[in-house]
Amino acid sequence: MSDQRDYSSAARPRRVLVVLFDGLRPDVVTAERMPTLHRFLEGARRFTEASSVFPSITRVCATAIGTGAPPAVNGIIHNGFPDPAAREGRFLDTALADDMRRGAAHHGAAFTATPRFADALAGAGRRFALVHSGSSGGAYLLDPRARDNGSAVFSVLGRDQTETPDTWDLVVERLGPPPTAPADKLPFLRYAGQAMAEVLIPELQPDVAFLWLTEPDWSFHYRGMDTPATAEAMRLADEAFARTLAAIRRLPGGEDTAVITMSDHGHVGTTESFDLVAALRELGFEATLDRPGADLSVAAGTLCWLWPTERDEARLGRLAAALQEMPWCGMLLSDGGNGLEGRFPGTFDLALVNADHPRSAPLLVGMRGGPGPDLFGLPGSSPLVGKDLARGGGMHGGLHRREMANLIALAAPGVSAGEDVSPVGLIDIGPTILGLLGIAAPASMVGRDITNPALSPRSSRTVEVGYGSYRQRLTLAGEGRGTILRDGERIA
Ligand SMILES: [Zn+2]
Repeated sequence: MSDQRDYSSAARPRRVLVVLFDGLRPDVVTAERMPTLHRFLEGARRFTEASSVFPSITRVCATAIGTGAPPAVNGIIHNGFPDPAAREGRFLDTALADDMRRGAAHHGAAFTATPRFADALAGAGRRFALVHSGSSGGAYLLDPRARDNGSAVFSVLGRDQTETPDTWDLVVERLGPPPTAPADKLPFLRYAGQAMAEVLIPELQPDVAFLWLTEPDWSFHYRGMDTPATAEAMRLADEAFARTLAAIRRLPGGEDTAVITMSDHGHVGTTESFDLVAALRELGFEATLDRPGADLSVAAGTLCWLWPTERDEARLGRLAAALQEMPWCGMLLSDGGNGLEGRFPGTFDLALVNADHPRSAPLLVGMRGGPGPDLFGLPGSSPLVGKDLARGGGMHGGLHRREMANLIALAAPGVSAGEDVSPVGLIDIGPTILGLLGIAAPASMVGRDITNPALSPRSSRTVEVGYGSYRQRLTLAGEGRGTILRDGERIA
């Protein structure tokens, strides 16, 4: 049920600007680190109970933003997953536009069939421009039909990494080529800000401009949650936002722009590396991390997805029960349950978190984190499986509140500023962009226009499941596919 805002034409913005700071934890935004964003937030409606989607991983988030629907609906259930039909020998990697094209070639149009807000914009004769400083797959998944839609999509990673190479040509003609393989992401960040502010906005005057900045995510992971290098990345991301905001306001009618600032997910500081492969071996399973294995293929992180090479329910059930005995085990989820409890007693059903899909793993195990401080003194911490991060680097993917809490704030004509505690999420962004412009959202968009004053907030609830002495809880709001997940943890 998508909600259509009934704007008077006087209140409807002429354009929408979305600036996404990848991985930005809302609680670390300060006037010193991000002066432009900080000032913007003071005059915006700030959704302090905003949440990512599950799993809280970048391309899952990008697809949820694009489709206004969770992974169970759009099928992009993880950053990488086993898909031997399309990609043998390694996971299909959603970071790579080539892998996404390969997925579409092998599985047909259904691979990315769920309509995007970009499709609806094109249908209404409105123009979408996207500059992406992260992975080419991330750009692809926001607007897979960019060429047919007449969108202008630019990826810093190369001409062949976008569906609209003419946009690459335009930007490179004006600015020269972007840097190749820089040591960190800062040169990409600078270039992306320029491409949007100096080329796409003034020359194409898009109806919706979307700038995806890959920082501070990269620095949180690889430079640490609170280091001078990370602060510098946040400052540069803020500068790209400032340039872009100024550029769109310089357009004719530029003051009538709705501006959404957001992040796709948060980060939890990691405290120690946990050897899940060794732990699973003790339980009788041979596992490999982030690649197909002989027994269990594991997507590593703070919450790990376990895909068995051959599915044996009884054996998996014994594993789920054994994991509940482990002091390091956090949340447990499985497929095929009753909508609350998964197939295995004491686990949450993947359907409850809207991650149930034929591609999903049948069993997921989280690390047991907590609210206590990370190595930098920031609230929240978690052990980590795999991944070559900085000491105390941030991670995301699980249901820890620090991973799920993201930035969503909006300034638009007719929308009052201030704190708003309504539970909102990534699935609301597409319907909101369309609603602001008076365009009907596709029926598959289960999110809602968060500026619609006629909607009452989704009601929140906490649910628990357990087995033996193991117990976990999940706090969520709303119903069915439109559910917003706040957070979850093992409680006993
Ligand atoms: Zn991200």
